[in-house]
Amino acid sequence: MIRQTDRKGKTPRRPPPKKPSNTQKDPVGVYCRVRPLGAEDEECCIEVISNTTIQLHAPDGLKANRNGEFKETQYSFKKVFGIKTTQRALFEDVAKPLVEDLIHCKNGLLFTYGVTGSGKTHTMTGSPGQGGLLPRSLDMIFNSICPYQAKRFVFKPDDKNGMEVQNQVDALLDRQKRDSQTTIPKTPTTRRIIDPEFADMISPEEACRADGVDEDGSYSVFVSYIEIYNNYIYDLLEETPFDPIKPKPPQSKILREDQNHNMYVAGCTEVEVKSTEEAFEVFWRGQKKRRIANTQLNRESSRSHSVFIIKLVQAPLDADGDNVLQDKNQVNVSQLCLVDLAGSERTSRTRAEGSRLREAGNINQSLMTLRTCIEVLRENQMCGMNKMVPYRDSKVTHLFKNYFDGEGKVRMVVCVNPKADDYEETLLVMRFAEMTQEVEVARPVDRPICGFAAGRRQRNQAFKEELTRRLEERGGPVDGETPTVLSQLLQSFPPMPPCEISGPNDDVTLPRLIEALEKRHKIRQMMIGEYNKTANMLKSILQEQDSNILSKENFIQEQRGKLCEKDKMIQNHKNEIDRLEKKSKMLEYKIDILQKTTNIFEEDKRSLQQELESREQRLQREMSEKRRMEARMQGVVTDAKLKWEKECERRVNAKQLEMQNKLWVKDEKLKQLKAIVTEGKTENRQPQRPSREKDKVPPKRSVSPSPVPTGLPVRPLHRRSHSAGGERWVDHTPATNVDLDTVMQPNIPNAIKVTAPSEKALSKCDKYVLTHQEVASDGEIQTKLIKGEVFKTRGGGQAVQFTDIETLKQEAPVPTSRKRRSAETGQAPEGDPMEVGWTDCETRCSVAVEMRTGSNLGPGYQHHGYPKRKKP
Ligand code: ADP
Ligand code: MG
Repeated sequence: MIRQTDRKGKTPRRPPPKKPSNTQKDPVGVYCRVRPLGAEDEECCIEVISNTTIQLHAPDGLKANRNGEFKETQYSFKKVFGIKTTQRALFEDVAKPLVEDLIHCKNGLLFTYGVTGSGKTHTMTGSPGQGGLLPRSLDMIFNSICPYQAKRFVFKPDDKNGMEVQNQVDALLDRQKRDSQTTIPKTPTTRRIIDPEFADMISPEEACRADGVDEDGSYSVFVSYIEIYNNYIYDLLEETPFDPIKPKPPQSKILREDQNHNMYVAGCTEVEVKSTEEAFEVFWRGQKKRRIANTQLNRESSRSHSVFIIKLVQAPLDADGDNVLQDKNQVNVSQLCLVDLAGSERTSRTRAEGSRLREAGNINQSLMTLRTCIEVLRENQMCGMNKMVPYRDSKVTHLFKNYFDGEGKVRMVVCVNPKADDYEETLLVMRFAEMTQEVEVARPVDRPICGFAAGRRQRNQAFKEELTRRLEERGGPVDGETPTVLSQLLQSFPPMPPCEISGPNDDVTLPRLIEALEKRHKIRQMMIGEYNKTANMLKSILQEQDSNILSKENFIQEQRGKLCEKDKMIQNHKNEIDRLEKKSKMLEYKIDILQKTTNIFEEDKRSLQQELESREQRLQREMSEKRRMEARMQGVVTDAKLKWEKECERRVNAKQLEMQNKLWVKDEKLKQLKAIVTEGKTENRQPQRPSREKDKVPPKRSVSPSPVPTGLPVRPLHRRSHSAGGERWVDHTPATNVDLDTVMQPNIPNAIKVTAPSEKALSKCDKYVLTHQEVASDGEIQTKLIKGEVFKTRGGGQAVQFTDIETLKQEAPVPTSRKRRSAETGQAPEGDPMEVGWTDCETRCSVAVEMRTGSNLGPGYQHHGYPKRKKP
């Protein structure tokens, strides 16, 4: 409220009532309006999730850019208006309280914020058939104050942001002057559609009225319309004579501070308007001017801020309730600023270049300043700091400094276009809006009550009506006759004696007249005395009443203060609840996400458990398989073991039998030897060569039992019968042998030559010869021909019984005495080394190689001890 503080009044004022003890504050009311998408198939990135919250989700393209990051953000506002919101509904919620405040002498600031195309102008101005907040506000103002409007020019701007009250004569003169001026378009004061261009934007049928309008006040509305472009202020209502030859560029205005430290545009046109139509016509004029200027100067209107200021001036009627009180101090001016801010997009988006870029930069700069101011304000308020708010950095913030610093109601409509293209800009808008909500502005205090009794206008009206009625009853006042009360009063005086003087000697008339007049004078004096007495009495009663009222008012104020405190407490609680609600919503959202994550993990767990189970089952199967295998193998092993045990037993038995045979043979030999020895003794010790075994008479066996029947020699092997064609030899010459090129080469006709002993060859032959080479002690190679006979064994294999060794040796012609030694050093393939010393070749050859048919162990070597045999 801009209060006139110049105290030059004529009527004494009461002391102003006590202000509420604390300065109450309200947060900036931030509303969000979501406009419909331009095309239905456009990608949408905003969802209205409740009437206070919207949710932004990154468009698909952007998600991909940010590694598919899932991003959703929620923003809460005082209220969210979805795409179906009507202009009226928006007005009811957002602007109506501001208009009510305006009428109750409180200031208001309403601005629309958002990127270009988000619906700021649609919201503020509207379109035909869909009037915005501005025409609706005007309409409500005029609907409310219409019956109480002051005559034009009763209030007059003082060019210092104040208002003066003109006397009736001056006002009348000004009115006459205005009527005579043809250049100023005369606008109507009654509802009449003038311009079809905007006729549809003001809708009288939706009339809206403020409550509690002070009827004892007189009102006037003044409007001004400015544009702030590139940080210059232009007056859109200024009347400049048009010069077609040299059109003057628009002159920018400056900001000034009035005596109450309120900022105003110096020299700005303020047009007094008397109706919605007139006011809107003025606005439309300014709008047209703005459009023309923008076209002429090649500017983009989206980059300028437009500010429409509605000033409501009100002053109390005088005591009679007839005229406006001629007291500047009693004039109240409240104002409502409707601001359509420039598009909040970044410079890059506007694709501006050169000087236009600079302009765009400035526009952004002013919005940036607004942002900074809001930030600092918030910080100051939240942290109890006192940082300087940089209002002066831009014209917009400077102009509205008082709203944030002083008092008033501030509301912001954040306009958003849900299209995906705007997503990033919209994010910035949302952040700014959220921050703005946290700034608090001092609540405007109530207007002090003027010193006159209420109901003056009505009484005056009633008086005037009564007067008119009575005059009408009497057929109008007669000349020289004082009407009504006065005439009645006059009638109560003693009648006047006749005043005509009959002649020069008339001494009666005059003294009688004098007497009557004196009488009347006396009565008059008496009446005056009476009147004064009554007046004084009434005065004292009134004063008493006054003081009563004053104390009651003070009491009311006190109560109001308390109420305010309670209000604040409630507000604080509400804020806290809001905050908590917001938090809980956030937490719910988080819980939701966590729930989802949990579900995913549980799913994973389930699948892993399933896998584990299946693996365990497989393991079980494999284990049992293994056990079965083990059992089977055990069976096989025991089978094999049994088989081998049997086999071993069998072999051992065979061996035992063999050994017993050998033992028996040796026994037999020993016996024979014994017999020979004893025989020799008896036959005079005549030396005798041992006879052949077959010639000998077998001695009586006495020592060991024999498994074979008696008879010599005992041969467990069957000698192959000699074929008619003579002997057949196996000539075994190992491949490693060296060809010594000697004449003493064994040349056996019809022999089977082999390099390794083979059963096949043995089975076909009955003689066997091995050509064996070795290095003798003198370093010469000596060749041995080891001869044997092939026998069939009992097992069905072949056995060779070596019978003879021929040693072939190359020597130098020097004779040596080692001839016999060859036999001594000659080695049997295997044998007891003890025997080497005394046995001859025959003994050494009593070794056979037995090869078993069907044996998979390969040829086995067995030693067979046989009695010495002669060379074949
Ligand atoms: P801004 O002033 O933010 O640049 P405008 O108010 O000029 O945006 O809106 C751009 C276009 O979108 C206009 O044609 C307007 O009619 C339309 N528009 C904006 N908001 C709405 C809405 N809530 N409902 C229908 N149309 C809208
Ligand atoms: Mg616009």
